[in-house]
Amino acid sequence: MLQKAIEKIDPGVAKIEAGPQETETKHSKRKSEPKFTWCRKHLLGLQDLSREELLHILDTAVGFEEISRRSIKKAPALRGKVMVNLFFEDSTRTRNSFTLAASRLSADVLEFTAKASSVSKGETLRDTARNLEAMGIDIVVIRHSSGGAPHLLSQCIDACVVNAGDGFHEHPTQGLLDIFTIRQLRGDLKGLKVAIVGDITHSRVARSNIWGLHTLGAEVFLVGPATLMPSGVNQLPVSVCHDFDEIIGQMDVLNMLRIQFERIGSPVLPSVREYSRLFGLTVDRMKRAKKDVIVMHPGPINRGLEIDSEVADGPNSTILKQVSNGLAVRMAVLFLVNHAAADKTKRSEATVEMI
Ligand code: ASP
Repeated sequence: MLQKAIEKIDPGVAKIEAGPQETETKHSKRKSEPKFTWCRKHLLGLQDLSREELLHILDTAVGFEEISRRSIKKAPALRGKVMVNLFFEDSTRTRNSFTLAASRLSADVLEFTAKASSVSKGETLRDTARNLEAMGIDIVVIRHSSGGAPHLLSQCIDACVVNAGDGFHEHPTQGLLDIFTIRQLRGDLKGLKVAIVGDITHSRVARSNIWGLHTLGAEVFLVGPATLMPSGVNQLPVSVCHDFDEIIGQMDVLNMLRIQFERIGSPVLPSVREYSRLFGLTVDRMKRAKKDVIVMHPGPINRGLEIDSEVADGPNSTILKQVSNGLAVRMAVLFLVNHAAADKTKRSEATVEMI
């Protein structure tokens, strides 16, 4: 009845309400593939996700992109649900993107900022989360300076947990939106050469990209000075290069990272100018790249340091496209984790009824 009423008002909304559709797009051939069921109620990282899981999130996001093009940018998929943004570190894009994604899906949103909370009075992460849970929240989106904080949380609360960046560890929705953007422009990722350039040691964006890209068949190159490469880099599924000019001409994608000065304890660079000369994506260096190379950056940008303004704002740059795509990707993630949690509840209710 409700479905029929929604269909009358807006067939698109009804589609989303009913769940992700078997749509066929430029980069999606799901019609012919066996039906896949998403079962994870948490998204903690991309390292453990299978190819099918990654593609399912990306295909679901394709369906959600359309909502942002409507005059009334709303769907009822998370109506009656509550999401909290539990941010212990600063954020511009990620936090606002999650807030907007949740509100486009009609969820209520609580904004939590550690600096303005009882954390400053000594409350632990677990207690903070359990107190918020006692108010009936369904999804916790957490950003924390300690790697593993979202994993810990997922073990002590019932709500869905989504990692919005944990220390140097992972930033799965950034990895997904980067991959979504590449896929949107190039279709299949298999065989694409992607360089991730800069401060790899302190970058959670790099790690999520490495895992996701590798699983989907891209070839990943890490480029930067040895002092900004993490220990154990040889165990990652990547090639390491310390000379940007040597490989730039072969790359299909250049993902430029910010130097995370706020996380760097001791000096790792002789000088910022020297770094820029060797690893910055300057106008001059761009001349050596493929004509159609995709230039990415997760933001915030330090213009003139890791990337020149002319390149950041130039025709190859997808920086703002990445931000727009982040919204669709986050809508997909919130939708999927919530549905997995609802399915689990249904299954346990069924078991209780049977007893
Ligand atoms: N915004 C990204 C992050 O939170 C990248 C950066 O800060 O440089 O990791």
